[in-house]
Amino acid sequence: MANLLFDAFFAPQAGRTRPFLILPDGTEISGATFLAMVNRVANALVANGVKPGDRIAVQINKSPMALAVYGGAVAAGAIFLPLNTAYTAPEIDYFVANATPKLLLADGAKAEGLTPVAQAHGATLMVLNGDGSGSFADLVNAQSDSFTPVERGADDLAAFLYTSGTTGRSKGAMLTHGNLLSNAQVLTREWRFTDADVLLHALPIFHTHGLFVATNVSLMAGGAMIFLPGLNMDDMIRLMPRATTMMGVPTFYTRLLDDPRFTADLTAHMRLFVSGSAPLLAETHVQFEERTGHRILERYGMTETNMNTSNPYEGDRRAGTVGFPLPGVEVVVTDPTSGAVLPQGEVGMIEVRGPNVFKGYWQMPEKTREELRDNGFFITGDLGRFDEDGYLSIVGRQKDLIITGGFNVYPKEVELILDDQPGVMESAVVGVPHPDFGEAVLGVIVAEPGQTPDLEAIDKVLRASLARFKQPKALKIVDALPRNTMGKVQKNELRGQFGTLFT
Ligand code: ATP
Ligand code: MG
Repeated sequence: MANLLFDAFFAPQAGRTRPFLILPDGTEISGATFLAMVNRVANALVANGVKPGDRIAVQINKSPMALAVYGGAVAAGAIFLPLNTAYTAPEIDYFVANATPKLLLADGAKAEGLTPVAQAHGATLMVLNGDGSGSFADLVNAQSDSFTPVERGADDLAAFLYTSGTTGRSKGAMLTHGNLLSNAQVLTREWRFTDADVLLHALPIFHTHGLFVATNVSLMAGGAMIFLPGLNMDDMIRLMPRATTMMGVPTFYTRLLDDPRFTADLTAHMRLFVSGSAPLLAETHVQFEERTGHRILERYGMTETNMNTSNPYEGDRRAGTVGFPLPGVEVVVTDPTSGAVLPQGEVGMIEVRGPNVFKGYWQMPEKTREELRDNGFFITGDLGRFDEDGYLSIVGRQKDLIITGGFNVYPKEVELILDDQPGVMESAVVGVPHPDFGEAVLGVIVAEPGQTPDLEAIDKVLRASLARFKQPKALKIVDALPRNTMGKVQKNELRGQFGTLFT
């Protein structure tokens, strides 16, 4: 009997005595031990009445057992639904109401607050703590190590992964076994992952980056992961000598560069550094190469599609670009109004099609129709352009596009200039309401530590380099840009904070 993901990711762990997970305290969990955990979880799910197609929602801290719940759900033919550990009980209520999971697993510290949520929507609540304790852990530990996986094919659902909610309410992307397997196969090949790889894993496992990109690739290749509960610089520096690869969001890279212990020597043995989930500043890319000699490989993806494009493993990894479409993934740039494919070089909507593209948003048929074309192309909401060599650059999100006095301003174009100015560490450009222009361009700047950027001088540069309608109507300095756990700048918050600047 076949279960596509189980057969590709988990079954091959049988008999593997080398480590699959390496924990910061030195504990090692072999592939075989992990597979036994997965099977025990699957048995525990069945003991809870979970049937194929049922949802299992989890808001639990990162741990080996938390990862085994993903495997157990796959084995039992259930739909895995991981939730951001930062969400509050009222926020979780939305997801539980939307997805009506059979089982809700929570950390002990959250269980009390989630009890009414589970009750209101008919879910069974059980506890799984980060240290491997809790009522669900007890149930798991009492189960048998063997389980016959439920048959699942390419079109069967494996996960509901909710989008990060950067541009609005989170949507549950329905991902199939075929979606996840195809992407894992492509990435393993493109990034040359093998069973000799040890991935330094400090990402959360409720998001596509840490859960699917990093974990699926490691499972597929038969490699290991150094599994950190979160981003801790001491652990990162201490354990990097044992790793061969690392995946991170851009803030991981800026944090590493801020640490004097992060040196060329420390990374000399490393094979690959991958970045994604938010734009990597070209400056970070350059600084990283200067410090370590490594060029970060930036790739581009999203909850609904897994990964779409990647800079090349061999060949030129270009700062400020997200590389080429992955094999099997079609990427086109279209006119946002007509949907017509635009010629190379023009900025437009990025659309993608391929075996990686999700089935639609759970219980949001209208949203699905708006974003998923009949011909299979997914309208990503990101604007971008292909350069003459075929590299894709992301210009920003369509929802962040500023329309001022009827003209379009791409925030990125202005941000790139701001970022280059003396004393400026980074910037975000947003549109805020303006009585005459509809929206006004606002530049929000974060200063380099200990520096005070000269706003008048910056304004002068902007005037010299940008058409008048693109020039910010105001520049503001803030201590830090608002970011979520994946390092994504929350432009909604900036628009809120400065919403009445001109009104
Ligand atoms: P929501 O869809 O709920 O508004 P979200 O789009 O932020 O939230 P995710 O699916 O986690 O949720 O993020 C995908 C988005 O992240 C992409 O659409 C893109 O805007 C951004 N992104 C991912 N990788 C990169 C990258 N390398 N460079 C720039 N942006 C990136
Ligand atoms: Mg999105």
